[in-house]
Amino acid sequence: MYPVKENLLKVKQSLHESIELVAVSKFHPKEYIEEAYAAGHRVFGESREQELKQKHQELPQDIKWHFIGHLQTNKVKYIAPYVTMIETVDSIRLLREIEKQAAKVERVIDVLLELHIADEETKSGMSLDECRELLADGEWKTMSHIRIRGIMMMASNVDNDEKIRQEFITAADFFDEVKAKYFADDDSFSERSYGMSGDYLIAQECRSTMVRIGTTIFGPRVY
Ligand SMILES: *Cc1c(COP(=O)(O)O)cnc(C)c1O
Repeated sequence: MYPVKENLLKVKQSLHESIELVAVSKFHPKEYIEEAYAAGHRVFGESREQELKQKHQELPQDIKWHFIGHLQTNKVKYIAPYVTMIETVDSIRLLREIEKQAAKVERVIDVLLELHIADEETKSGMSLDECRELLADGEWKTMSHIRIRGIMMMASNVDNDEKIRQEFITAADFFDEVKAKYFADDDSFSERSYGMSGDYLIAQECRSTMVRIGTTIFGPRVY
């Protein structure tokens, strides 16, 4: 058995207590999640709707599931009844669908706006200008079943701490910009989700409020 509990505690000890840890359990068996759950952890991240559905059905109901993968609009209805946060909103279309499905099940779903700041094409999310447009358009203000809680991003996968730091700072500055413009009076717009296994200590120095850590807790994923 992989030492999930020990790893989890080590990660927690290295994080400031105000930072939310999302344990990224994608591709790992439910036993690993149970191990972390037994150690008191409740917040887990998954990236595929089918896998999340199965784990949600089999595991304790007080787990808070964060969806962190690319989300197709036709899959929103399946996770809307139970997901705690959707971290990967990258279009107004997706936001509309979340609003619609959340309304159907009479919930308010927390979401993050996913930003593409890294130069890698493989990374998803909106450019800063696309995100500015989404907010300036204002349609989101009419949506009462979503709550925009902040921003999310992934840094470039490079061996260059300074570059990673710059990308995190770009995200934090962007957060401040939109906070001042649209959410100054909204205390719930408070989250900056960045930092993964390879860069979460840098993220923590760059004002991250939420880190998403898989490999360091659960070991390498078997795809
Ligand atoms: C897989 C994944 C993570 C976790 O990555 P690790 O390097 O295993 O910590 C974090 N965020 C997102 C969006 C992911 O897809």
